[in-house]
Amino acid sequence: MATQPASSFYFPAPRAQKFCSQCAAHITYLTPPDDNRLRAVCESCGAVHYQNPRNVVGVLPVWEDKILLCRRGIEPRYDKWTLPAGFMELGETTAQGAMRETQEEAGAQIELGPLYTVIDVPHAEQVHFFYLAQVLSPDLAPGPESLEARFFTEDEIPWPELAFRTVITTLEHYLEDKKHGHFKPGAHPPVHYYEVSLPKRDY
Ligand SMILES: [Zn+2]
Repeated sequence: MATQPASSFYFPAPRAQKFCSQCAAHITYLTPPDDNRLRAVCESCGAVHYQNPRNVVGVLPVWEDKILLCRRGIEPRYDKWTLPAGFMELGETTAQGAMRETQEEAGAQIELGPLYTVIDVPHAEQVHFFYLAQVLSPDLAPGPESLEARFFTEDEIPWPELAFRTVITTLEHYLEDKKHGHFKPGAHPPVHYYEVSLPKRDY
């Protein structure tokens, strides 16, 4: 009997579905009655497998005048620098997810601040949310998804080595708002809502 090779995990998470999750029959792609787009439909049991954008939740953590970044230890963008962020899990709020990701990727103690950027990334089928956060202690303990976590002054930010467009634009907004005094005590930091449009898979 042939032995199965060990399965390897891969990115991205597959969107296309071949079998019904309810009855395991083959999936058909069709537009159901009263719908307006193709869905993964099971003609055997009638289940419609809707697909919707995924939420990525993260934090822009600041310690004194420095920003906390993590060097990615996983694909995609292995070895590139990012703000702590990741896919929201079922049953948590965006704020809880952002704090969890900061703990997992940097091991940083933070006090979560206001929501700061909301970014539509339609080509990647995602919406990204970044919160501002105050780091409470310089002690870091990066988890297995990070090669390294450290603080950067404004001048040290490794722009060409940043992992994602949403991280770059969030940092750009932060530096610009800081210049205009939007983070001074008593000031109300703005929320930035926008869209990034880039070639498929390049977010
Ligand atoms: Zn079915």
